[in-house]
Amino acid sequence: MKALVDPRKCTACGVCEGVCPVEAITVTETIAEVSDACTLCGLCVDACEFGALSLPEAGARPVEDLESYRGVWVFAEWRSGVVHPVSRELLGAGRKLADKRGVELAAVLLGHRIEAAAAELLDYGPDVVYVVDHPELARFTDETYAASLVELARRHKPEILLAGATTMGRSFIPRVAALLQTGLTADCTDLDIGENGLLLQTRPAFGGNVMATIVCPNRRPQMATVRPRVMKPAVDRRNGRVEAVTLPERCFEHRVEVLQVIAETDETAKLSEAEVIVTGGRGLQKREHFRMVEELARLLKGAVGASRSVVEEGWIGPSHQVGQTGQTVAPSLYMAIGVSGAIQHIVGMQGSRIIVAVNKDPEAPIFDVATYGVVGDLFQFVPAFIRKVKEERG
Ligand code: FAD
Repeated sequence: MKALVDPRKCTACGVCEGVCPVEAITVTETIAEVSDACTLCGLCVDACEFGALSLPEAGARPVEDLESYRGVWVFAEWRSGVVHPVSRELLGAGRKLADKRGVELAAVLLGHRIEAAAAELLDYGPDVVYVVDHPELARFTDETYAASLVELARRHKPEILLAGATTMGRSFIPRVAALLQTGLTADCTDLDIGENGLLLQTRPAFGGNVMATIVCPNRRPQMATVRPRVMKPAVDRRNGRVEAVTLPERCFEHRVEVLQVIAETDETAKLSEAEVIVTGGRGLQKREHFRMVEELARLLKGAVGASRSVVEEGWIGPSHQVGQTGQTVAPSLYMAIGVSGAIQHIVGMQGSRIIVAVNKDPEAPIFDVATYGVVGDLFQFVPAFIRKVKEERG
């Protein structure tokens, strides 16, 4: 589907070519021609003073030849030559989907000098790793990564395409979906195959108050992003193969130049990778009391988490927020101190292995997900617990 050109009205003036953000229009001597890269954004339609361009009616959009799409793909992210944990998690989820569909599981790796990452990916069970190695992919840019993934997807036609809801995935995957003219469900917490073979994409909706299961029946690939630490990592190695792929040079053209990459130094990374998290909620009453949570986290060699209320109070920075609009975490131990357990908080921490909740209200929803619950006053419990930990340490 692409913008339509009326040859009786087109004057080949070139204005549309200039405004098209995805360079889908080429103007010949007589007429504007629109390529498959068109995203139906409509900018050319607005810009054409002769009314020569129009968008096809939504109702007239044909259903594609769905049967020609096969296979489950995972976009494999890496940092400093090492595969990002979310890619392993997605390959774990992708394996289940591929087995249910009876199709191949593939990982797609884009970058430069990434042989080690390709070899590492084979440990996580894909049948094939498609590798595009090019100097222009050494550093991530939306344009090059989107163009490369789109080109690969057009060639191989996967039925499902998964990516991490990381900074990188959130940045360029919507562009991929737009260029492929398909749907995308962001931040899924569960993926499955329905009876009709469709991908069931479940995610919190309406402020986290309901879990919505979304399907994409008429377009391919079915695309979803998943937050890190939501899915279980892949464990099985198979005798997968690595396939080097050469793409046309146009895939590596970019208008954005990355001048420098500065490593993240705030607590965000620490929180998402911590084995122990101690989270404080509004039950702590004031900023000074929040220091108890920080002390306990330090003693347990863990990271400090916070509910949104606490962040809004300004007791700690937003990078510590756990939940729907904060980070998704899944440590071995999660301690929730004075946190009520609103659904928006729970969606961000329910994957933790052991959850300890301290709350004076026995009806607090946090107890619904807690492994161990302490019903009582945190101002008695936490100082006593800190004393005990210190004693144990000698
Ligand atoms: P409260 O709900 O006020 O709970 C305080 C708890 O402390 C109570 O259960 C109380 O019984 C207990 N308490 C009080 N005193 C003591 C004591 N002395 N001893 C023991 N217990 C005590 N929230 C998030 O956390 N993360 C998010 O990402 C997030 N995203 C949101 C997105 C949207 C669109 C919306 C609408 C809301 C979002 N929220 C989020 C807010 C969420 O709905 C709750 O308001 C918030 O999580 C409540 O924070 P809290 O548990 O610290 O505070």
